[in-house]
Amino acid sequence: MTTPSPLSPPRRVLMGPGPSDVDPRVLAAMALPTIGHLDPEFIRIMDEVKSMLRALLGTENDLTMPMSGTGSAGMETLFANLVERGDRVVVGVNGVFGLRMAEVATRYGAWVERVEKPWGEAFTPDDFAHVQGPIKLLAVVHAETSTGVLQPLDGLRGVADRLDALLAIDCVTSLGGLPVELDRHGVDAAYSGTQKCLSAPPGLAPISLSSRAFDAVLARRESVSNWYLDLSLINKYWTDSGGGRSYHHTAPINNIYALHEACRIALEEGLDARAERHRRLGAKLTSGLAELGLSLPVPEALRLPQLAVVEVPEGVDDRAARSRLLTEHGLEIGGGLGAFAGKRWRIGLMGSACTEENVALCLGAIAEVI
Ligand SMILES: *Cc1c(COP(=O)(O)O)cnc(C)c1O
Repeated sequence: MTTPSPLSPPRRVLMGPGPSDVDPRVLAAMALPTIGHLDPEFIRIMDEVKSMLRALLGTENDLTMPMSGTGSAGMETLFANLVERGDRVVVGVNGVFGLRMAEVATRYGAWVERVEKPWGEAFTPDDFAHVQGPIKLLAVVHAETSTGVLQPLDGLRGVADRLDALLAIDCVTSLGGLPVELDRHGVDAAYSGTQKCLSAPPGLAPISLSSRAFDAVLARRESVSNWYLDLSLINKYWTDSGGGRSYHHTAPINNIYALHEACRIALEEGLDARAERHRRLGAKLTSGLAELGLSLPVPEALRLPQLAVVEVPEGVDDRAARSRLLTEHGLEIGGGLGAFAGKRWRIGLMGSACTEENVALCLGAIAEVI
């Protein structure tokens, strides 16, 4: 074969539901020299990443680290480790990612009870009032990227306590855009991703487990059926339990450099300032979209600031319009997922992509294609 030319990907503005624009500082960090996964300097970098993730997640949990793989690997990690065959798991399902959690938990042998809500709504603690304990795990999605709905976490710890359950959340889209505050909400287990509001490339899934949740992993009757994601093994690489670090699999070194820089950027800005930027520009984008006559199906109080969801306007061809945005304006927005395919647009304002210029670019481009 003839060798293909070197890559020159087009410049895009990434305002879909992820990946988001990667900060040039993060791309530069990724290009630093690869070193060994047991190099003392790399171990120092790992420790810094763990501390920064704790700060971003609002937790003191020792077991806080990035798993190798995208956000979905975080989801898989949580259920692979915490579910044993026959455990009862309750999942709040009000969108695609809740459905996926139920599916993954089922694959690991859980008896899954779905508590359902229409897509576009959030759960209140009362929605779980009919569930009888004890159960192993109660799981909800903090920021449901398929619907643009924010799930308030207040009161869910009380529900989990009544059911004698661990409380787990998906914070893939919230981390870095909204306060997550695991400890304040009594969350036992959480997973996230790097490619949404942290604005690092896809490839890592930060996770955090309370000591109670990790004790449950260590006390399993059978070993975790997924060897690659087994926290009892991988934790021996990410922490020093006396005998140094032991090899499990080769860490994706340069992805971890990228995450290190992305965490530094988020902490330099400050979590409050970062949340405020997402809130302010999110509100500006949604009011601009409304002025264009687009309808916003999510009630204002439940809207994710980092992801505006609008109905595809009557008479507009979803695919053709998004393809014009991409080719004529270099702008990527997302289409609908699952039941919302063809019916919704999902416009992200995540991390580095959340700027005044992008709000203006997006409103101008959408005005043109509709
Ligand atoms: C994007 C997303 C995921 C999956 O992350 P990937 O990086 O695509 O594997 C899981 N949950 C939510 C809420 C998401 O938005």
